[in-house]
Order: sequence, then C-alpha cells, then structure tokens
Amino acid sequence: MRFINTRNPSDTATFKEAVLQGPAPEGGLWMPESLPDFEDWNSLLQLRWPERSEIILRRLLGDEFDGEALAGAIQRALDFPVPLVRIRRGLYSLELFHGPTLAFKDVGARFFAEMLTLIKEPGHPLTILTATSGDTGAAVAHAFWNRPEVRVMVLYPKGRVSDLQERQFATLGGNVTALAVDGSFDDCQDLVKACFSDPGLKARHGLTSANSINVARLLPQMLYYAEALAQLHAQDVRDGIVISVPSGNFGNLCAGLMARAMGLPVRALIAATNANATVPEFLDGGPYRPRPSVATISNAMDVGAPNNWERILHLFRGDTYALRSALRWGHKSDEETKRALRELRGMGYLADPHAAVAYAVLEDRLGLSETGIFLGTAHPAKFLPVYEHMGIQVPIPDELAALKDRPVVAQEVPRDVQAIWEVLEA
Ligand SMILES: *Cc1c(COP(=O)(O)O)cnc(C)c1O
Repeated sequence: MRFINTRNPSDTATFKEAVLQGPAPEGGLWMPESLPDFEDWNSLLQLRWPERSEIILRRLLGDEFDGEALAGAIQRALDFPVPLVRIRRGLYSLELFHGPTLAFKDVGARFFAEMLTLIKEPGHPLTILTATSGDTGAAVAHAFWNRPEVRVMVLYPKGRVSDLQERQFATLGGNVTALAVDGSFDDCQDLVKACFSDPGLKARHGLTSANSINVARLLPQMLYYAEALAQLHAQDVRDGIVISVPSGNFGNLCAGLMARAMGLPVRALIAATNANATVPEFLDGGPYRPRPSVATISNAMDVGAPNNWERILHLFRGDTYALRSALRWGHKSDEETKRALRELRGMGYLADPHAAVAYAVLEDRLGLSETGIFLGTAHPAKFLPVYEHMGIQVPIPDELAALKDRPVVAQEVPRDVQAIWEVLEA
C-alpha cells in the first residue's frame, strides 16, 4: 500500500516511511493512495477478531512485512476483547476500553509500538517524544514500556491532568520519563514541536512522534468497526447499521470512514462532538472555522482545530455532497451529556462522558428501523470527578486501584525548550 501526501499528490511514501516521518512534508498528512474494495466482507465477518484483523492487515501491508512478523505484531497488539454490549433493542455500545490503559487509544498505540519495533534498525535507539492532556501519554508509555532501544518522554501540564491519568504514565519509570511541565497542554505541544524542528537533536536521539496523526495509529482503528459488525451479524442483524463516534481529533471517525470505503456494510457513521463543534457546524453548511478549544467534561474531545479532518476531506476528494451522505452529525453541551449519562444509567448502563456524547447524538439521528452502535472510548473510572458531581458511584477496576499506592516519578521542568534539551542529552 502506498501513501500520498494530502497537500501534494506527487509526494508518496511506503508505510514504513510514513510511520517514521509522522506528518507528511508541507504540513500535510499521509493517507492511503487508494483503498481496496473487499468483496468478501460476508466471510470476513464470520471470522474471529484476531484472525480477521490479521487477514485485513496482511492484505494492506503484506508487501512490506513478512507475514509471520505481521501476524505476531497483530496478535500482541490486539490481545484484549472489544465486546459489543446490548443496551436495549437496536442500541449497543462497542467497548474499546479493555486494554491496559482503559481507553481506545491502546489499540493505535500498541500497534504503533509493534510496527516501530519491526521497522527500526537495530543499534539505532529511538526517543518517542509526546505531549499529552491525558489518555495518549498513558497509552503510548505503556505500549513502549520496557522495549529495548526505545526511550519515551511524556510531557504533560503539571497539575492539569487527573490524578489517575498522571499515575498511569508517571509511575512506570524505566525507559519512560514523565516531565511535568510548568504550563498548559499547548505549551507542552509547542515544546515538542521545538525539539522536532532542531535537525541535530532529532538525528542524535532518533526523535519520533507518537502523535495520533501517525498512520500506524490510524490503520488499526479500522479493525474494530469490522468487529462491531461481526458481532451484530452473529445475531442476524445485517442492515441499517449506524455507528456513532465521539470525536475530537477525528482520527477514529476517519478510520471508520476508511473501513466503509473498503466496502464494510455500515449505512452511516455519526460525527458526534461536545461544544467543540467545528466539524458539525461546517457540515450544517457553515464555514470551516478552526478555533481554540473550550473545556468540557468529555475532555479528550476538547479539540477546536481537528488534525484529521483534512484526511477525511481527502478521502472524499473534497466532495462534501458524498461526505454528507456517508455521515450524520451533531454536538452536545455538558448539560445534555449529563442527561444522556443519566438516561443510559436508567437503562442499566454506565457510560463515560465521551460515549455519552456519542449516544446523545445517535438518539437524535437514528431512524426507526435502524440499529445504532455508539463507541465506548474510555472506562468511566477515568473520569471520577464528573460522576462525583452527579452523585453516581463508579466501581474502580483493579488496574486503576493498584496505581494509588505507586509513587509518581515525574521530573518537574520549566516551560523552556532548553530544559527539555538538557533532559534529552543527559
Ligand atoms: C482521544 C479520545 C477521543 C477522540 O478520538 P479522536 O480520534 O481524536 O476523534 C474520544 N474519546 C476518548 C476517551 C479519547 O481518549
């Protein structure tokens, strides 16, 4: 499979090149040049999740990787279940949070770590430099923890991520360095960018980005859309399936649209956002107006200028008519999100605030005879303060409870690129 630069159609790359580069030149992103249309979804959907995932990725990447190596990487990266939970007739949640850090970002981060291990040259150590506002840092740090010749540096805004989120990446130690930056998440991102713009530093440390725009994080996200359909097919539900995606940077939705472009029989996908409604407002016919984000209770979706939207436009070759017919959309305020949480709880289901946004928009946009799925992107226990406010008790999974006793081993640093260099060069 070849990849093409969204900003320059004559600029192409192999998968390996695209993974190592992260973003494409000229501010573009790598996208598959063309997507195969699988004609055998009916039989693919009868396979089990690991086997099916392996076949799909072998078809896409088999020209660059030995089949055995690819199979091993896929088995290790996707070694947790993605259950489709029935809430009531015609309504399901696809739970993507049963990986080690309890958020769907485990899928992309673990596959990325496996791919990078396959691609990297032995004897050339890499440093993964990443800024996080919460879930990404944890998923990336866990995915690379204890891997030889790889060091991970997680920059996060001191005092601005939840206690449990911080403990997920700042208690690991070993090859994971957590840097508590005296600043905001945007400051952390700026520091990372400044390090990448120094070619000498980049080369000396093999600096690599684990940003969600990396194709190795994007591709595996297609696989669970197929798994959702497989579990419905097993119950003889085949038609009128609509999947609602709680969206921030729009990588998840992009992966779903790519699967649909490959013939996966989904009627429509739903772009669901919180008050950061840049995309829904555009789809409603307004101008595309990226803007600074506003804070909400579904904070992993607090993105005002979504990076991957450019990919989605590219997938549809800029044809917004076709895009509007593949998509439905909507956005919800925090009040509406809380109402949705309570409604789901009334049906016996505890959702996280991100999933609740997806559910709320799905309820508005689902037709009578259709079957709706919303994606459960994180475990509710990652957002305890939201539920405490609402007077809802949340059971804490053992993985999170155990973190309470582990000491945080973060290094505090000023908001200064010199300080990051010193840590890198130490
Ligand atoms: C990252 C994240 C999202 C948004 O996913 P995108 O691919 O950025 O649109 C939604 N929910 C949770 C819990 C997340 O961590």
